[in-house]
Amino acid sequence: MMSQVQNRRGLLIIVSSPSGAGKSTLTTRLRKWDPSIRFSVSATTRAPRPGEEDGREYYFRTREAFEEMVSKGEMLEHAEVFGNFYGTPRGPVEAAMLAGNDTLFDIDWQGGQQIRNSSLGKDVISIFILPPSMVELEHRLRSRGQDSDEVINGRMSKSLAEVSHWAEYDYVLVNDDLDRCEEELRTILSAERLRRERQPHLTDFVRRLNKEYEGK
Ligand code: ADP
Ligand code: 5GP
Repeated sequence: MMSQVQNRRGLLIIVSSPSGAGKSTLTTRLRKWDPSIRFSVSATTRAPRPGEEDGREYYFRTREAFEEMVSKGEMLEHAEVFGNFYGTPRGPVEAAMLAGNDTLFDIDWQGGQQIRNSSLGKDVISIFILPPSMVELEHRLRSRGQDSDEVINGRMSKSLAEVSHWAEYDYVLVNDDLDRCEEELRTILSAERLRRERQPHLTDFVRRLNKEYEGK
């Protein structure tokens, strides 16, 4: 019991961006840097892309199965994005938080708002990734080579709507140079973990410092 009180709760790291700005690439790098970070695997009604596996990138679900999860209260948040439904299963996030593990979310602004406004809001760090230019954004979407022209055009036309929410986020990064942007992400996380209220063990630590000196 004592050690549970001492552990900090895990952080909820929300990363949003217009599609193609590089958040999957960056969050994958961040998880390589710190493998203790859990990735929140969302459920979606969209079809898997080549190379995507059920349970790894997403839980690919039918519309009916998705709606059942929502109606049973199993989603922490959910939203419609590009004509498909996406949602965050609640169970793994709550378990990770209690265990003191940080969880990373690749979700859109609607999901970001819902989690920030929930009872978990004080444990959220939110980060928005901007592309260096719209030309580069389109280039990245095309060079990823995973979506049809129609899908890419749809994503480009919605990207400014996503970007319009940039000011709701705690941190905003421009993903020009991948290495620099990764470094900035690490810096954010390292600093947030050092916040006083996220180091509950310090109370005992300082008490020990006092005892040590008094016992001299
Ligand atoms: P998102 O997850 O935001 O949709 P991705 O991470 O899939 O975007 O990135 C889209 C494409 O852009 C990928 O092919 C990726 O390799 C490339 N990319 C990401 N960041 C950069 C960068 N800083 N410079 C050049 N290419 C990048
Ligand atoms: P994609 O189809 O490219 O994987 O994702 C499309 C968009 O849906 C991205 O902006 C992504 O962040 C968002 N998204 C993915 N999972 C979730 C989720 O669980 N909830 C919400 N609200 N958005 C999500």
